[in-house]
Amino acid sequence: MYKFGKSSKERLSEVHELLQELAEKCIQKSPYDFGITSTGGLRTAEQQRVLFDTGTTHCDGVKIKSYHQSGKALDLIPYIGGSYTWENKEAFLGIAKTAFEVWDAMENKQGLHLHWGGYWRAKDSNTNMLLDINDKLGWDLPHFELRSNPQNNTLNIS
Ligand SMILES: [Zn+2]
Repeated sequence: MYKFGKSSKERLSEVHELLQELAEKCIQKSPYDFGITSTGGLRTAEQQRVLFDTGTTHCDGVKIKSYHQSGKALDLIPYIGGSYTWENKEAFLGIAKTAFEVWDAMENKQGLHLHWGGYWRAKDSNTNMLLDINDKLGWDLPHFELRSNPQNNTLNIS
């Protein structure tokens, strides 16, 4: 069983309470260790803009706001062999499966729905983010967010 380090805990404390509950329960069940990096929790418009400028997001923080700016998004990054890794897709999948199991079992969801970036298909503006796993996964594997509408899941990750 894994647990969050100090920095991940601090970042987690700034996001929506349902994401906190989700992450706390998820890490206890997940087959992979994971954490929250410096940009993975709550972001200011300025922090969002910096990410936009590096091309890692299509949300500029002003015209298009990220769910990270309202605390309704969280990025979970696998922590393997002593460091964060964005290369291990099995780990991302394992974490996502666990996250949805936990989410499904949570009782009061406040009418919100869990969305996962691994379901998002690449768009033209994000072709630099295309992930090559037989074109099956979306482009934002660490990303979870809370929306008022259900996600139209097109993948079977079971
Ligand atoms: Zn994100």
